[in-house]
Amino acid sequence: MKARPHSVDTLHKARKTNNSGTRIRPNGGNLTVKKYESDALGFTIEIDYDKCIGAGECVDVCPTEVYELVDGKSAAPNIDECIECCACVEACPTQAIKHTSC
Ligand code: SF4
Ligand code: SF4
Repeated sequence: MKARPHSVDTLHKARKTNNSGTRIRPNGGNLTVKKYESDALGFTIEIDYDKCIGAGECVDVCPTEVYELVDGKSAAPNIDECIECCACVEACPTQAIKHTSC
């Protein structure tokens, strides 16, 4: 059997995110996760696009305007403004957000 061109690990290692985030597509699955890293602050936010329903609770609740909706899905272009309050994780109705500090 032919090896798949990209393993999840490979993609994780390959990604070097900035404020535009990086999409991670595990082999053969439908899951699509957009990952943002704050190099300055040392944490990561992942948004699972399969779970995000785009209602914008994260946008509304974040006190520092980290999030915005792009094409009906959440994005976190301003991750460096995050104060690690975890309100976004708690507010998301579909558990689409993973924050390494929360
Ligand atoms: S943890 Fe708080 S400050 Fe950081 S993105 Fe979530 S709501 Fe915004
Ligand atoms: S709160 Fe959750 S479901 Fe709603 S837009 Fe944000 S990430 Fe998507």
